[in-house]
Amino acid sequence: MTSEFVTRVSIQQAVLELTEGDITRQTVDAIVNAANSSLLGGGGVDGAIHRAAGPQLLAATRVLGGCQTGDAKLTPGFNLPARYVIHTVGPVYHPDDETIPQLLASAHRRSLELAAEHQLESVAFPAISTGAYGYPVEAAAPIALKVVYSFLQRESSLKLVRFVLFGGPALAVFQRALHDLTQQHTDIRRL
Ligand code: ADP
Repeated sequence: MTSEFVTRVSIQQAVLELTEGDITRQTVDAIVNAANSSLLGGGGVDGAIHRAAGPQLLAATRVLGGCQTGDAKLTPGFNLPARYVIHTVGPVYHPDDETIPQLLASAHRRSLELAAEHQLESVAFPAISTGAYGYPVEAAAPIALKVVYSFLQRESSLKLVRFVLFGGPALAVFQRALHDLTQQHTDIRRL
């Protein structure tokens, strides 16, 4: 019997993996920041990324003119182990608004597109919108993973997409969602 918790899979030429940890410690080409539309810093993962990257990051985001919900913009990583930060803005959760899942999907898709446009090979995501923006992680995880699955169907520079979950409960939710995705698509191989 297969475990209901899946942590690492291959999709086409790339690996998709889930881990528990602090995204600011990830040595990847780019980490994704769950920013707000001002791009001027905030709490949660945004605050942690700005603290770890140093004040040059705020100087770099200040000149970008903000970012719309569902879009993404790229800066250097400065003092981070990651070379770049992809700043995306997820939606504030609202249960009755059907555009909210589309905006969450768009935030992930635009981040991946930006990574590929810059020929990046590895990118790490936090659980966008699931903190201050209130998106239930049970609802967000399948959307995030499905976008990655769809994106990896096409040729791109990406070889590794990692979700870095803050705490065991969030990791378990993503692991179950990844299990469900592997059940739906025969071209996803468990590693
Ligand atoms: P949002 O405003 O998009 O909801 P938050 O930063 O409030 O963004 O939360 C997004 C997710 O990031 C939450 O699940 C939160 O637990 C998680 N998080 C907070 N700090 C970190 C970190 N250092 N590394 C990875 N994830 C983090």
